[in-house]
Amino acid sequence: MEGIDLHIHSTASDGTLSPAEILKLAQKLKLRAIAITDHDTIDGSKEALQTGIPPSVKFLTGVEISASSPPSISYAGSFHILGYSIRLDDPQLNKTLAVLQQARKNRNPQIVKRLNSMGFEFSLKDVAKEIGDGQLGRPHIARYLIKKGFVKSIDEAFKKYLAQGKSAYVDKYRVDCERAIEIIVDAGGIPVLAHPILLNFDKNETNDLFALLKDMGLKGIEVYYPENPPGMTTFYSKLAERYGLLKTGGTDFHGSLKPDIQLGSGRGDFAVPYEIYEKLVRI
Ligand code: AMP
Ligand code: FE
Ligand code: FE
Ligand code: ZN
Repeated sequence: MEGIDLHIHSTASDGTLSPAEILKLAQKLKLRAIAITDHDTIDGSKEALQTGIPPSVKFLTGVEISASSPPSISYAGSFHILGYSIRLDDPQLNKTLAVLQQARKNRNPQIVKRLNSMGFEFSLKDVAKEIGDGQLGRPHIARYLIKKGFVKSIDEAFKKYLAQGKSAYVDKYRVDCERAIEIIVDAGGIPVLAHPILLNFDKNETNDLFALLKDMGLKGIEVYYPENPPGMTTFYSKLAERYGLLKTGGTDFHGSLKPDIQLGSGRGDFAVPYEIYEKLVRI
């Protein structure tokens, strides 16, 4: 494989491989460039740099910020802003991530409480014991529900209880998207809209959103994504060109928490060309 993967989760958030394991696997798969983009934390990127980057793999620092959609746009699904090549010691970025992390800490007990009231007996501590120092999220709770025999799969856990609108769903604090873009830019980084397909927008809404985000300072769109239905990668690609936005891509690798998705190759037929990386570092 000669490609790249610019969307990877580590044990710092809801991935199951440590940054060191990701670097090793990327080397083994001959990926030429990667970025670790954990939810609302840069600990994964920090750890990768401390571990040492193998000479054959180019590395970009990264983060995936939970953002809220612009007020003028109807409610979006997963609205995530990726940040690449960010300065990891930027005070404003670290302060914002600390707020997001605290919001998750406040939210998790509420999710567990809801599940308890539905007859699922366990504590947040039980879930925490299963993971290391990383940030606990819904996928960890889903995996614990499987372990206890309450559900059979992560998918079932989300569909029945944890997804938005389901009985154990608790909303979480998100950063206003214009602010998220600004924070990434101020930290020397490149803000990119993650996985537009997960917004659940139609084509007109997507067009309007890209235009709006471009005005807010967005620099790129994650055009290449394994979940894109046929034709959508081309659609996003054309829109990105229309608005002068960079095209990026990645698998959204989560290790065994998203078992169908492999590093670099998604479901096996996915690849992001190296030139995407070259264009990203040139701006
Ligand atoms: P949280 O960060 O706790 O809000 O959880 C969000 C994460 O849960 C996402 O990044 C995905 O990894 C995962 N996720 C969200 N929706 C689903 C779903 N329907 N099925 C499986 N995983 C999901
Ligand atoms: Fe995730
Ligand atoms: Fe995401
Ligand atoms: Zn992600």
